[in-house]
Amino acid sequence: MTLDRFERQALQRLRRRSERAQIQAWPDPAEKTELVQRAGYARQRALAKLPDYLAMLEQNTAATGITVHWTESAQAANRIAIELIKKAGGRALRNHSPLLDEIAIDRAAIANEVELVRVHPGDQLVQLSGRPLQHPIWPTAHIRIADISSTLQEAWHVPPSVDPDILASTVRNRLRPELLDATTAVVGLNFAVAETGSLICLDNEGHNASLATYARTLICLLSIEQVVADAADLDILIEAFSRSAWGRPLPGFISEIRSPARTPKGEMQAIHLILVDNNRSDALAQGFGEALRCIQCGACHSVCPVFLQVGGAYTQDASTPQPYSGPIGAVLNPILLKSGNAARQPYLSTDCGFCASVCPVAIDLPGLLQRQRQAQSSTASWREKLAFSLWRRLLNQPRLFKAYMRLWRRVRH
Ligand code: SF4
Repeated sequence: MTLDRFERQALQRLRRRSERAQIQAWPDPAEKTELVQRAGYARQRALAKLPDYLAMLEQNTAATGITVHWTESAQAANRIAIELIKKAGGRALRNHSPLLDEIAIDRAAIANEVELVRVHPGDQLVQLSGRPLQHPIWPTAHIRIADISSTLQEAWHVPPSVDPDILASTVRNRLRPELLDATTAVVGLNFAVAETGSLICLDNEGHNASLATYARTLICLLSIEQVVADAADLDILIEAFSRSAWGRPLPGFISEIRSPARTPKGEMQAIHLILVDNNRSDALAQGFGEALRCIQCGACHSVCPVFLQVGGAYTQDASTPQPYSGPIGAVLNPILLKSGNAARQPYLSTDCGFCASVCPVAIDLPGLLQRQRQAQSSTASWREKLAFSLWRRLLNQPRLFKAYMRLWRRVRH
C-alpha cells in the first residue's frame, strides 16, 4: 500500500520534528561523538563473542527460574510462544516490538485461533485503522486525527473528537483494564544482559512494566544479537537508544525482568525466554554482522529520502511481511527473509549518507547497502541486469545522459 499525499507530508513533519529532537538530545557534538563510539563498541563487543554471551545469559537466567528456549527460525519461535499461550488459556497481550512483527506472531496467532491483543496505544490504533505500520518508533505519525476519531467511533462507539489528548485518553482508558487483568503476555525485549541475566524493555507508556508485573505467564522474546555484555554497556545503549529514538536522555520507563515473582493477585509467575536466531547467524557468517549492531531506534528512517516517500512499504507484496523498513531494513530484510522480493531492497537508496550520520551505534549503512547490492546482484533477472548495464553506460556519457533526461521530462509531462 503506497502512501497518500497526507501521509507523505506527515512523514516530512516527523522528519523536521526528529531533526529538532536530535539537536535537543545532542547539544554537544563532542559528547555525541563519544557516546556513539562507546555505543558502537558495546554492540561490537557483544557480537564478537556472541555464543559466549548467549551461553552466559542462558546460565544466569536459568539460575533465577526462567525457562530458556533456543529457536532457529520465526516459525519455531511462534510455535513455542503459541503453545505457551494456548496452555495459559488462549489469550495474550503483546507489546510494541519489531521482533514480534518480524516473526509475524499476529498471523501465527490468527492461524492457531489464539487471541493476541496489542496494548501499545499507537499499535492498537494502527491495528484498528487497518493501515500498515510506517515508522517503527512513531506508529501513528502518518494517521490523520479525523481518521483516528472515526476509527475509534466505529470500533468502540465513542463520541467524535479532534482533540489529541481526548483521543489518547480514550485509548489508554480502554487498554488499562486489559493491562491490569493480564494473565499472559508476549514481550519483545530491547536487550538482555549476559552478566546479570536481566531482561530489559524500554518504552514511554509503561505498558511493558504492567505486562511484566501482572502477567502470570510471561513469554519474552529476544533476537540473539540484542544480548549485551554487562550493565555498563546496557547503560550506554539505553542512553544512545533514548536520545536517538525519542530525543531524551532516558526513556520514560525501563523495565527490568530478573526472576519470576508473585503477581498482584498472589500467583507465582512462569517466565519463558525465547532466543530467536532467524538467519542472524547467517548474517554474521556472510560478513553482515555490522548490521546486527542496530538497536532499532528509527533515527535512520526519519532522515531517509526513500523512506519519507514510501514509508514502511518496502515491497508491494502484501503476502510477505517486511520486518524492517528504512535503510537498515534494506540491508537486513534480504538476510532475514531470504526471499527474492527482499533482494531488490538494497537498491531503495539514494546513497546520500544521511542515515550513517544519525546512527547512534556507528553503522556504516551506505557501505552495507553497497555490499548488499553486490551480494544480491547474482539474483537479478536478465532484464534488471540489462537495465543496470544501460544505466551505467548512460551515467558515463554526460551529453547522452542530459539528452535522456530532457526526453524523460518531456515524456513525463
Ligand atoms: S541502523 Fe542505526 S539509526 Fe537505523 S534504526 Fe538501527 S541503530 Fe537506529
